[in-house]
Amino acid sequence: MQKIISLCKRRGFVFPGSEIYGGLANTWDFGPLGVELVNNVKQLWWKRFVKDREDIVGISSAILMNPKVWAASGHLKGFADPLVECKKCHIRLRADHLKESYNNQCPGCSGKDFTEERQFNLMFKTFIGPVDDEASTVYLRPETAQGMFVNFANVQNTTRLKLPFGIAQIGKAFRNEITPGNFIFRVLEFEQMEIEYFIEEKDWEKTFDYWQAEMKSWLVDALGVNPGNFVIREHEKSELSHYSKKTIDFEYKYPFGQEELYGLAYRTDFDLKAHKLSLEGMVPHVIEPTFGVERTILALLCDAHNEEKDRVVLKLKPALAPYKVAVFPLLANKPELVEKARKVFEMLKNDFTAVWDDRGNIGKRYYSQDEIATPFCITCDFDTLQDDTVTLRDRDSMKQERIKISELKNILSERLL
Ligand code: ATP
Repeated sequence: MQKIISLCKRRGFVFPGSEIYGGLANTWDFGPLGVELVNNVKQLWWKRFVKDREDIVGISSAILMNPKVWAASGHLKGFADPLVECKKCHIRLRADHLKESYNNQCPGCSGKDFTEERQFNLMFKTFIGPVDDEASTVYLRPETAQGMFVNFANVQNTTRLKLPFGIAQIGKAFRNEITPGNFIFRVLEFEQMEIEYFIEEKDWEKTFDYWQAEMKSWLVDALGVNPGNFVIREHEKSELSHYSKKTIDFEYKYPFGQEELYGLAYRTDFDLKAHKLSLEGMVPHVIEPTFGVERTILALLCDAHNEEKDRVVLKLKPALAPYKVAVFPLLANKPELVEKARKVFEMLKNDFTAVWDDRGNIGKRYYSQDEIATPFCITCDFDTLQDDTVTLRDRDSMKQERIKISELKNILSERLL
């Protein structure tokens, strides 16, 4: 885990939040490479689950909502973790984590004496207007789901979709998490990619199974995650959220242990009923696949991180790699090589996310690109000046081949699929 965190910081995937002021616990910022990876994941998800389908449409709803939403959805009452406090060092912990992860011993001072469990609501509060009193309290949404439920009628009226159909959204959610961290695994502010899929009650089991298969295929086929690195676990009755009749978690084997990556829940008709929404006299039921962006990024980084004999290589699928191709002049101090390589770079950069590198020697540049997952490197050398060919080097096989500049675009397009 330390190796991944340090690579993320060193190469610009993820920085500690507010770092120059000593940081802010459980907040992180995505850097230049991180934001490319995040955008690639989100675009792939949106294409697969919204654009390529006729039965799902997207929305983007506001983070701040009328507090009545959270009263109706049960979050004001039920969205709480049971907390205990160590009587010696006053650290607060989730009661379930104390038992499962810390063997009833305080991780701060090894004390064993704790207060009784107390419910702690995870929603962040803020205020609208100049007065911070109860009447002006609003909440930062703790899930994107409610934005889709309260827009159910608007979406159905404007699209005229018939059951079964879904609403999808990618957006920020906020939770005042107590138990810290593990890098970007548990953060205060994160993004969810969520679908509310509306069905008739009789169809819930088959729809649940369908979405379980879809989620698995997203992980394995779209993201290229090794199927041996995650498991599917069904929630015990006692673990189920207040709205759910059946939930499964996709758990990834992170370096710090096997933990939730995604969830799939049968939310029944709980939410639409709570908001008094119906369709042609009946209240649809809901299957909800939910995908956390930060946990996707963390799973991808863990999954793709390979240490080979003399290199570290991030074997992300080309579609996810922040840069698709790096272009180098063999020598940075030969203007004719630099000029030729710049031409190749300019030619490619409109079609592919390309990066220029002329520091150090070729070996170092390959090492540097392998570490950030760049699938292809192109070098212009003295032969290029004679015959308009370049060396194309493949990240995974490390094979190098001579390619005509005029064929580069076609070859890259084919191989980057
Ligand atoms: P956990 O049990 O780990 O607290 P949860 O069961 O409360 O998670 P859900 O309410 O199912 O999580 O949230 C849906 C998805 O949002 C999760 O599967 C996860 O990918 C993501 N997620 C939830 N909480 C966080 C968080 N604090 N930081 C990052 N991602 C999160």
